[in-house]
Amino acid sequence: MSNPMQNVVSVLDVARDSDGVAHIVPVSGGKDSTCLALALKEREPRPYTYIYTPTGDELPEMVAHLSRLERMLGQPIIKLENGTLATQIEANKMLPNVFSRWCTRLLKLRPAGKFYSQFAPVVCYVGIRDDEDEREGTRPGGDSAPVGTEVTQVFPFQHWGWGINDVWSFLDERGITIPERTDCARCPYQRLGEWYNLWLQHPEIYASAEGDEEKWGHTYRSPQRDTWPADLRGLRELFEAGTIPERSLRMMEKRRGMCRACSL
Ligand code: SF4
Repeated sequence: MSNPMQNVVSVLDVARDSDGVAHIVPVSGGKDSTCLALALKEREPRPYTYIYTPTGDELPEMVAHLSRLERMLGQPIIKLENGTLATQIEANKMLPNVFSRWCTRLLKLRPAGKFYSQFAPVVCYVGIRDDEDEREGTRPGGDSAPVGTEVTQVFPFQHWGWGINDVWSFLDERGITIPERTDCARCPYQRLGEWYNLWLQHPEIYASAEGDEEKWGHTYRSPQRDTWPADLRGLRELFEAGTIPERSLRMMEKRRGMCRACSL
């Protein structure tokens, strides 16, 4: 990424067409938004502005992916920040969990909503495919964008009739790979197998997340989710003893993805 600490967006950063409309492409780093950003550039050239809402908890492979995407797009992706996951945990004095998902609201929806209301009128290009029917979480900025903000949403994949196979073909033809995970390293929505991979591949991040739980006295995982220990320390001890969450790892092979609010 060109400037991971960028958090003040100037009018000069946002291009407009001859009618004064800004064309905004939100990028999550996942396959759909990566494909959409590149396909729009190829198929429907306009003065686009690309935005991303970092949390500061991205895995290194995700940071590298966004930097590569910026190079392919030929321009920076604007980072809209509202602190980081770490600073928001301190401010809220609690970890996010599946029952209290304040992180998406504060770190994703709020800065995006502020951006849309500041730079309206805008057209927002949403990466929902023609073979999916999900609408939840697609309002740009969620409830953080004031009602009446001039934001028009368009769905180019649906206009083009593109489904999942078209997305993968487009990416494959250009040699673009997508990181296995594009969500936060310590996202409470991640699967058991993802915690296992985090422990295996990024032990320092896992140790830091384990330290968060010790500091705040509660866990990222919810105890009801499965029969494994909810706390990261208990999980680590099982992993170190050679216990592998094979079923979860198998399931991850079949179904990759994350919550839509953070992936669109
Ligand atoms: S990816 Fe997970 S931890 Fe990060 S903002 Fe979204 S829900 Fe929260």
